[in-house]
Amino acid sequence: MTSVDVAVVGGGQAGLAASAELMRAGVEHVVLERGRVGETWRGRWDSFCLVTPNWSVRLPGYPYDGSDPDGYMPRDEIVAYLERYAAACAAPVREWVDVRSIAREDDGFVLDTTAGGLAASTVVVATGAYQRPHRPAAAASLPPDLLQLDAEGYTSERSLPPGRVLVVGSGQSGCQIAEELVEAGRDVVLACGRAPWAPRSVAGRDLIWWAVETGYMDVAVDALPDPAARLWGNVLATGHGGGHDLDLRTLQRSGVTLAGRFLGADGGRARFADDLAESVAWGDERYRQFAGLVHGLAAERGLGPIALGEPPRFEAKPPRHLDLATVGAVVFTCGFRPDYSSWLPWPEAFDDLGFPVHDDGASRAVPGLYFVGVHFLRTRKSSLLLGVGEDAALVAGAIARRLGAARPG
Ligand SMILES: Cc1cc2nc3c(=O)[nH]c(=O)nc-3n(C[C@H](O)[C@H](O)[C@H](O)COP(=O)(O)OP(=O)(O)OC[C@H]3O[C@@H](n4cnc5c(N)ncnc54)[C@H](O)[C@@H]3O)c2cc1C
Repeated sequence: MTSVDVAVVGGGQAGLAASAELMRAGVEHVVLERGRVGETWRGRWDSFCLVTPNWSVRLPGYPYDGSDPDGYMPRDEIVAYLERYAAACAAPVREWVDVRSIAREDDGFVLDTTAGGLAASTVVVATGAYQRPHRPAAAASLPPDLLQLDAEGYTSERSLPPGRVLVVGSGQSGCQIAEELVEAGRDVVLACGRAPWAPRSVAGRDLIWWAVETGYMDVAVDALPDPAARLWGNVLATGHGGGHDLDLRTLQRSGVTLAGRFLGADGGRARFADDLAESVAWGDERYRQFAGLVHGLAAERGLGPIALGEPPRFEAKPPRHLDLATVGAVVFTCGFRPDYSSWLPWPEAFDDLGFPVHDDGASRAVPGLYFVGVHFLRTRKSSLLLGVGEDAALVAGAIARRLGAARPG
């Protein structure tokens, strides 16, 4: 069995950022990636692009290096950027190595991997911010012969059989996929839940600029109304086609049929709750809160008048049922859940929702175990290309101090 000081599990942006910071701190480590660098991004749908602008890509030592800082990188450019990042940092990545399990041994860990055993005194888990696609229990009532996909399984409109498409879940992914499908001429029904929304651009500046400058991105879990608010959708917007507004109203205008929450299927029909207006009102309330932050910042910095008024009136006659014989496919875009506890043997290291219990990324229950890239690890931006570097630096610093303290002399 080989051994190393630190094993970083996962070669996405979080694992690479941790590697860059460990390198800077002179800590011996290896990054184990079950696929290729940026594997998760590679698996996103064909027309996928960032929602956050390129200028907000701030990985340690390697900010966005392209010619379009105000654009939104498409999938393959994100992957190419991460590959350049790994090369520029000389990150010691071992691709195609799957970590099947990790066990405690003496003061350290033993990793069981597809390339053999590895002993490490410290483990950094960077296995993804959005791990297990969530499907509501009601999904089980759909006929098994009807094509059902998660966003991960969706590639493009052309890959779907003919017929209507029922998209279940109206977060960023669901809205983007619904928009793409309706633009391709599909009849789309979107079963809506709740999500915040905001205009793509306010007073000539991108919504993410306002989110950064107002401190919205720095909100920590403790400041959320409830820890479960970590599972809320992100602010609706899209970077597609150079970026534009995307929310339930824009989708309705483009011909998407909006329905309430998906309740299940019986007698060949899908059923929807009578809660669309409530969900829109919930999103509008989050919009007002965001607008309040923007107005506050604009007043503080003398940024001039900001045209963020009341949301337009919303009217709809949402269907309560849908004949499934007219539906060619169902795409589930209902968010994600953490999946650490399915393969890490320390239930005490995770809270009720499955998120790590930690101090600045250091597990409280398991000494030597660290996390990077968790949604809301420290703040709202922790899982983003914007903010993961800040957390990675703290984790690498803590590891360097811990290893230094453990070494004789
Ligand atoms: C649809 C969607 C859109 C997003 N858009 C944006 C955006 O516009 N801007 C932004 O900043 N963020 C965005 N994010 C959030 C975030 O940036 C991404 O989720 C990003 O992929 C997270 O990077 P990561 O390194 O934490 O995780 P991942 O990219 O998921 O990387 C984790 C890696 O770990 C590997 N791995 C997992 N388990 C093991 C194991 N046991 N052994 C070995 N390897 C393993 C995986 O193969 C993977 O490569 C988006 C997320 C989603 C879901």
